[in-house]
Amino acid sequence: MRHMAAYDVIVIGVGAMGASTCYELARRGVRVLGLEQFDIPHALGSSTGFSRMIRMAYYEHPDYVPLLKRAYELWDELEKASGQKLLHLTVGLYMGPPGGEVVSGSLASARRHGLPHETLDRAQLAERFRQFQLPDGWAALYEPRAGFLLPEKVIAAYADLALRAGAEIHGREPVLQWHADDKGVTVRTPRGEYAAAHLVFTGGAWSGSLLHDLGIPLQVTRQVMGWVWPNQPQQFALGHFPVWAINNPAGGLDYGFPMHPENPGLKIAHHAPGRPTDPDKVAREPLPGDEETFRPALRRYLPAGDGPLLSLRTCLYTNSPDHHFIIDHHPRHEHVTIACGFSGHGFKFASVMGEVLADLATKGKTELPVKFLGLRRFSDEEE
Ligand SMILES: Cc1cc2nc3c(=O)[nH]c(=O)nc-3n(C[C@H](O)[C@H](O)[C@H](O)COP(=O)(O)OP(=O)(O)OC[C@H]3O[C@@H](n4cnc5c(N)ncnc54)[C@H](O)[C@@H]3O)c2cc1C
Repeated sequence: MRHMAAYDVIVIGVGAMGASTCYELARRGVRVLGLEQFDIPHALGSSTGFSRMIRMAYYEHPDYVPLLKRAYELWDELEKASGQKLLHLTVGLYMGPPGGEVVSGSLASARRHGLPHETLDRAQLAERFRQFQLPDGWAALYEPRAGFLLPEKVIAAYADLALRAGAEIHGREPVLQWHADDKGVTVRTPRGEYAAAHLVFTGGAWSGSLLHDLGIPLQVTRQVMGWVWPNQPQQFALGHFPVWAINNPAGGLDYGFPMHPENPGLKIAHHAPGRPTDPDKVAREPLPGDEETFRPALRRYLPAGDGPLLSLRTCLYTNSPDHHFIIDHHPRHEHVTIACGFSGHGFKFASVMGEVLADLATKGKTELPVKFLGLRRFSDEEE
């Protein structure tokens, strides 16, 4: 059946960023249509795996901190609006050589923005968190307001609240083509054609194929998450164990979560781009070597956690060239807004991204400080 329904905004992709954007638009009274190619939520994109770390002392760049402050407020609002527990505050520990990216970057953000934190040497850390065994000379930054979000529940809550506020959301309806001109936008799906004044792209790992005219390479990589049953489980229980990240001397970082009932076992993973892949062809079943992406960190730093494997799951990163997000208007289409390249660290921002993208789609600008995430940085580099 072909039809041409008209909306104020169409959102392509109802994952983390798209679901929050649909909610934010709907609660502002905007006529919004969200189109998702799979189910809502689903395990085939970037938002699967039962937990996502949230932290404020952001080693990646201090400019993210003001956005995080707003993100925390909005997570609180989402919990209230949905009546669900979606964020567990646990405290965070970021560890490594004192001059390494994780410790020094987190400290720089904490100092610049006056965030509560403590620095711990190896002996102080051992007193408070005996689970970790760190090399001599390493240090830790302790952050009280860190924890984790429940990603599948967050997406379901945003979609549910958006629908109740008047959004139209269609699952299992992939966008095949889009077109923008001076008057607005149209998109085509197997079920029909839709028109709107504005289009928001939140297509995650599929952003490259939707936005191939952007000229910015987005590399999709296959990432592995593991769950093990610790030798001493009581040491890793929620309330006794932090969210944590350790600078891996070979590059990237190892990170993990306390145990919690969403999925049995202790979750651990390695954060660095994995093997490049195509989101439609990625090997979702375990491959040889998957367990070795995180097992050495257990052996080395968390020996009491180094127990038998329970689960291995895969997920997708969409890496921008500099690993910072891309949030901007489409350079050639003023009625199109893009949000992609979340490079494996975007989920904690999903709440504030809904607000940013709703602002950009309806007002053409936002008061939230996202300029540093604009496309301009790529052309500036070339000049
Ligand atoms: C293993 C792993 C661990 C991570 N850990 C953390 C963490 O601890 N903390 C953190 O903050 N971040 C973390 N991240 C990153 C974070 O999860 C992502 O940045 C975030 O989920 C990206 O959200 P998104 O909305 O862009 O993508 P998604 O949630 O995948 O949503 C994109 C949606 O668009 C849909 N779509 C695409 N194309 C079309 C189309 N043509 N038509 C219709 N629908 C379409 C897709 O089906 C999908 O549902 C992690 C990521 C991974 C993979």
